[in-house]
Amino acid sequence: MTALIIAEHDNDSLKSATANTIAAARRLGVEIHVLVAGSACSAAAEQAARLRGVGKVLMADARHYEGGLAENLAALIVSRAQAYSHVLAPATTFGKNVLPRVAAQLDVGQVSDIVEVLAPDTFVRPIHAGNVLAKVRSDDPIKVITVRATAFEATGQEGTAPIETIAPGPDLGMSRLLARELTHSSRPELTEAKIVVSGGRGLQSGENFKLLEALADRLGAAIGASRAAVDSGFVPNDYQVGQTGKIVAPQLYIAVGISGAIQHLAGMKGSRVIVAINKDPEAPIFQVADYGLTADLFQAVPELISALGQ
Ligand SMILES: Cc1cc2nc3c(=O)[nH]c(=O)nc-3n(C[C@H](O)[C@H](O)[C@H](O)COP(=O)(O)OP(=O)(O)OC[C@H]3O[C@@H](n4cnc5c(N)ncnc54)[C@H](O)[C@@H]3O)c2cc1C
Repeated sequence: MTALIIAEHDNDSLKSATANTIAAARRLGVEIHVLVAGSACSAAAEQAARLRGVGKVLMADARHYEGGLAENLAALIVSRAQAYSHVLAPATTFGKNVLPRVAAQLDVGQVSDIVEVLAPDTFVRPIHAGNVLAKVRSDDPIKVITVRATAFEATGQEGTAPIETIAPGPDLGMSRLLARELTHSSRPELTEAKIVVSGGRGLQSGENFKLLEALADRLGAAIGASRAAVDSGFVPNDYQVGQTGKIVAPQLYIAVGISGAIQHLAGMKGSRVIVAINKDPEAPIFQVADYGLTADLFQAVPELISALGQ
């Protein structure tokens, strides 16, 4: 049995979730191949070859794979899938875009967002916003799986796998990447940061998020937000943590002015240490917090920043 991992990358470098996905695949106890499809993507392929547990990297290099668009990529994966027992990708925006199309074209059911591998056909995945863990078994001949990256520690970097260049599939011409609007930030990426400082509706305005930026800068942290803060226009929606936002599991998560609705907890309760600052002692966030501070954030956060400054 062999698993095909679909690498997420920007042609120059691999996204870290790929290493977590390989860690999940290693639990299957099968041979592992990694598909790097991109445009001038040899640097990403070389990084994939260095990941522990990888037996072979398949590199498909063509202009029409540049943006990782699902249509062309899924067709390539499907054309090679019969040689594999498993096809895995991270449960990121990228994986969630590509793999359902692959599963549909292979006429198999997708197993989404796994957090544990119990056997090559049996997995654990959260349902009901993370309140229930379901054990699911797939009898499909090819198991198409997305992996919750935060549930698996990234595989190491001691690999020396060969890179095989494969013929790209055709450009189906169904979609074209016209432009990409990226948020440029000197802070760490939200899903990769070791510390995340998140703000909620309690911040009252986008302007007040500057307070959290000052705290995040002291800690080298990324900034996240609740959906209420995003919907109120305080911050862009790629800040959103939760069921319909990003899933994070940093070593330290500081929730400021966030009530702790289950949809928010679904995105951060795997964090190693949770600190909550909220003026309402009954706020549900305190039920998951390791350290809770019942205080007005506009007083507590400046005090925290000045204490850290010392
Ligand atoms: C299908 C669905 C999906 C959803 N997905 C998500 C998701 O992905 N992520 C997400 O976050 N939510 C999500 N939600 C929304 C979620 O249910 C909550 O509405 C949202 O998380 C609330 O955000 P909040 O805690 O910032 O706001 P509120 O619930 O309004 O809480 C604000 C908190 O700030 C505190 N506060 C106010 N002023 C201060 C102060 N001065 N000092 C200290 N504390 C203060 C208050 O005590 C309160 O606890 C989803 C909802 C649905 C129905």
